[in-house]
Parts: sequence; structure tokens; C-alpha cells
Amino acid sequence: MAFVVTELCKDCVDTACVSVCPVDCFYQPKEPGEKYPNMLYISPEECIDCAVCEPECPWEAIYPEEDVPEVFASDIPLNEACDTDRDGFELAEVIEHEPPSAEEVAEKKAKYGL
Ligand code: SF4
Ligand code: SF4
Repeated sequence: MAFVVTELCKDCVDTACVSVCPVDCFYQPKEPGEKYPNMLYISPEECIDCAVCEPECPWEAIYPEEDVPEVFASDIPLNEACDTDRDGFELAEVIEHEPPSAEEVAEKKAKYGL
């Protein structure tokens, strides 16, 4: 099992998660686009399931694999791509942004029926 970044992260890569990961297993696509959306990805091979990142994500975008909502099921193989297609990814950088408000988080989750 590993933790998974879901589409809730898309275009909101504030990277609070990256700075707490003890094994640096967050990756970003070198060329974000249709194939690899502009979000972060957790390497399932490197993640040690410490769970430290999950509460740090202001967008509530990180889930343990077994708890990933059905609407984000395709994000599980998408995260795996940073292991199977490593040339397409690079280590995520820490870039700090203002965290979203509770209303913004709720609004985004509602778009996915959460
Ligand atoms: S903290 Fe959450 S929203 Fe921000 S980059 Fe990490 S997973 Fe994505
Ligand atoms: S669960 Fe731990 S090891 Fe896995 S991505 Fe999160 S902080 Fe990193």
C-alpha cells in the first residue's frame, strides 16, 4: 500500500506535502499536460506509508490507496506512472503558497461529489 495524490491537487501544487515527506517520494511531471496533469505524484515504490503528508495537504488531496474515493480511482495508476515512466518526472520542488480557505476546499471537493 502507498499513499496517493488525487486530482484535488490539480493546479494547486502548494507543496506543503513535499517538505514533510521523509523519503522525498513526491514527483512532478516535467511537462504537465493531458498525459500527466499539473499535480504531484507519489511514488508507490518509495512511499513508506508514514502518513505524515496526508494531514499537511490543505486541499485534502492525499489518501491511503485503499481509501481513494471511486471518483479518483484512475489516480492510482496515474501516481504509479512516476515509477514506470520516471523519465517523464522530476523530484517535486517546495513552493509555498497561501493555503486555501475552508470554503475553497469544500467548493472543489463538491465538484467531485465529495
Ligand atoms: S499539499 Fe496537497 S495540494 Fe499541495 S501539492 Fe501536496 S498533494 Fe498537492
Ligand atoms: S506517506 Fe510518508 S512516505 Fe508516503 S508520500 Fe506521504 S510523507 Fe512521503
